[in-house]
Amino acid sequence: MSNTPDDKAADQDSVDTPLAGPWYRDGLSFECTQCGDCCTGGPGYVWVEEDEIRAIADYLDKPIGEIRLMNTRPAHGRVSLNEYANGDCVYFDPKKRGCTIYPARPRQCRTWPFWNSNLSSEADWKGIQKGCPGVGKGNFVPLEQIQMLAAEVDV
Ligand code: SF4
Repeated sequence: MSNTPDDKAADQDSVDTPLAGPWYRDGLSFECTQCGDCCTGGPGYVWVEEDEIRAIADYLDKPIGEIRLMNTRPAHGRVSLNEYANGDCVYFDPKKRGCTIYPARPRQCRTWPFWNSNLSSEADWKGIQKGCPGVGKGNFVPLEQIQMLAAEVDV
């Protein structure tokens, strides 16, 4: 609970204000450690649009129909990449702990962690640090780049 004037000022800083801009106006830090945790674990969705399925097919030099049929599924009115029963993404290599389609990875993966759902508040941003060791560390990412990445996906 906030009791002191300092606490109140800190609280105010963690929400968007129309004149001052978003709470992350001074930029954020992120650097992927390649741990692979975001591609594995509990069930989830990696949303893909037709152009992204096409990019994966081109990268793997396979027919787009094969990628669509074998490695995607409909869900909630959208299309997601498939995952294995253990939650690993269908394109995750467990031996190398890496993405096998990295240069053609979907927007959702490319823009992590700068999703609107993670940027809604400082608390939301800090909440994802538990699952992603790269959040809040390493490379400085300026406001303009954060906004550009967040505008790319609806997550
Ligand atoms: S969880 Fe974070 S640090 Fe680990 S691979 Fe994913 S983005 Fe990189």
